[in-house]
Amino acid sequence: MGWSIGFDTDWDRDIGYGVPAHCDHPGCPEEINRGLSFVCGGEPYGQPRGCGLYFCAKHLFTGARLPQLCIRCVRRKHSFKPTADTLEWMYFKMTDPSWKQWRKDNGLEEVPYYHHLMNLLAVIHRDGGHYVEEHGLEKAVEDAINVVYAERFPK
Ligand SMILES: [Zn+2]
Ligand SMILES: [Zn+2]
Repeated sequence: MGWSIGFDTDWDRDIGYGVPAHCDHPGCPEEINRGLSFVCGGEPYGQPRGCGLYFCAKHLFTGARLPQLCIRCVRRKHSFKPTADTLEWMYFKMTDPSWKQWRKDNGLEEVPYYHHLMNLLAVIHRDGGHYVEEHGLEKAVEDAINVVYAERFPK
């Protein structure tokens, strides 16, 4: 499996360069992955000096004798709270065949999230799901939000 995807039992989340993520600095929207080049401490789990969270280049600091560290670890303070997984990653785990066993093990395989979402989008776009097929899931969700807002706040 290598380091493309692993599991961090300290922070209870997926790690590795195969996992797209947002920077763990609060409010930072920068898109990174949970690979070694972004980990605080420079090693998986960040030990011994880092917290093992993942940061963009702007939020990692490298000293002469220290591994790359986030600002909290530079100052030896409590670590930040980890940011949530990206929608992109959650969607991948919920739908990709390579995560089928994981979904089964976690009782998620039978839960038709995907179908619930498709039904909701079909109602909002007033079709049988054609909008999603034509424009893709991401655009369909974005446009659905605009449709709902337009109806909620008429001009
Ligand atoms: Zn840190
Ligand atoms: Zn950042």
